[in-house]
Amino acid sequence: MSEQLPQIILVGRPNVGKSTLFNRLIRSNRAITHDRPGITRDRMEGIVRRRGLPVFGIVDTGGITLDAHATVTEGPEGIRGFEEDILAQAEAAMQHAVAVAFVVDGRDGLLPLDEHLAAHIRRKGLPTLCVVNKVDGLEREDEQMAEFHSLGFPLLPVSAEHGHNINALCEELAALLPAPAPGDSAPDPAPPTLRLAMLGRPNAGKSSLINALAGEERMIVSDVAGTTRDSVDVRFSVDGKEYVFVDTAGIRRRSKITDSVERFSVNSSIKSSTKAHVTLLVLDATEGVSQQDKRLMDMLDTRKIPFMVLINKCDLVPPRALDQLRQNVGNSLAFCRHVPILTVSALKRSGLRKILPLATQIHAECQIRIPTGQLNRAMETALTRHQPPVVKRVRAKFFYLTQAETAPPTFVFFVSDAERVPESYARYLERALRHLFAISHAPVRLHLRSSHAKGHKKN
Ligand code: GDP
Repeated sequence: MSEQLPQIILVGRPNVGKSTLFNRLIRSNRAITHDRPGITRDRMEGIVRRRGLPVFGIVDTGGITLDAHATVTEGPEGIRGFEEDILAQAEAAMQHAVAVAFVVDGRDGLLPLDEHLAAHIRRKGLPTLCVVNKVDGLEREDEQMAEFHSLGFPLLPVSAEHGHNINALCEELAALLPAPAPGDSAPDPAPPTLRLAMLGRPNAGKSSLINALAGEERMIVSDVAGTTRDSVDVRFSVDGKEYVFVDTAGIRRRSKITDSVERFSVNSSIKSSTKAHVTLLVLDATEGVSQQDKRLMDMLDTRKIPFMVLINKCDLVPPRALDQLRQNVGNSLAFCRHVPILTVSALKRSGLRKILPLATQIHAECQIRIPTGQLNRAMETALTRHQPPVVKRVRAKFFYLTQAETAPPTFVFFVSDAERVPESYARYLERALRHLFAISHAPVRLHLRSSHAKGHKKN
């Protein structure tokens, strides 16, 4: 089976952590790892799966047989004299691969053997990702990454031992694969259930909206307070896709005890958001935007929770007032313009049809994973279109862009001096990335890291 899959090969000098990475990628402990170079290992082959489906074969060239030679001392120094073997082995292993994961050690830094291997790999011309292993903490990440830029490959920091960035690694490696021939693509796996949270003040119409969307009277709107906790999650499906509203018992309980006194806590209501993929914040069109609604929006924004705003009960408000309200809500969301605002009526069932597809889109945008090569081309484009401003007589240099996380997509710019990048320019970069990668409604995070190291090469 693995023979039919395209193969990606792990190349790297001994002791950089290839076996541990290999195990992480195939999610098992099959390969035995050793801290010392010089231990014979067989060529290991495994299959990397995503959502249970095989995506590519992975080969570990760990079997660099240094044992054949006499004694081997520990550490990178110990492989002196065996470079030829290592290079030859890597060369042979690359014959059948479609792409290369070139593994280096972020703690050891860039060694001459890494450079030799890199030269071999470049000569092969296979798509290559440089995996900087043993990057265990964010504090030193830019420092550890800096000198590897000169190799000219896209970089990804990981920690095989701690499992940091392993999903990202799978995705970036999958992105190196040649496009499948038409007709032999695997069937799409069933989409996972989309988890939704409904937030908003008591009586805004949350229960009514859930009922309207779920298509049945799952929650009885006028039920007695807090008598049952069995309907915490409301599951339903629309057009073959599964959805679940989480924590709906909380909605009912809160809405019923409160009555006229608002005892609705921003903190506790936001908890259900953290269990959901997408949050729906419901406002009551007849009440306008309250202080609490504003606090909720602020909190959702700062926590980078993906959400949309539903202005409910729009059947009770004349169109002109509704426009005004939309504008007010828009002003409250001035710093997160990506958040969609819909006007709906649970009672008249108007405007509801857009909600679930929009939630699905937001969730998909949160999962987006952009290969490093594309990111850096995008960065160049953005920098060329508007260069960074001069701050205190110096213009910040941008070296490199990488995506550190998904959900929400998190982008890290390595720059000469983050202090010299004004907020307005960071916002411009965010807009540019959103535009280039069609991230319309998901939150994104942007980090600027100062990287003072020398040796940055423009490639
Ligand atoms: P919750 O506390 O947020 O769950 O709010 P409910 O769903 O219990 O609704 C509070 C009240 O508003 C109920 O009397 C609903 O019938 C009413 N309501 C909900 N949605 C609408 C709507 O779109 N239009 C009108 N006119 N009334 C609504």
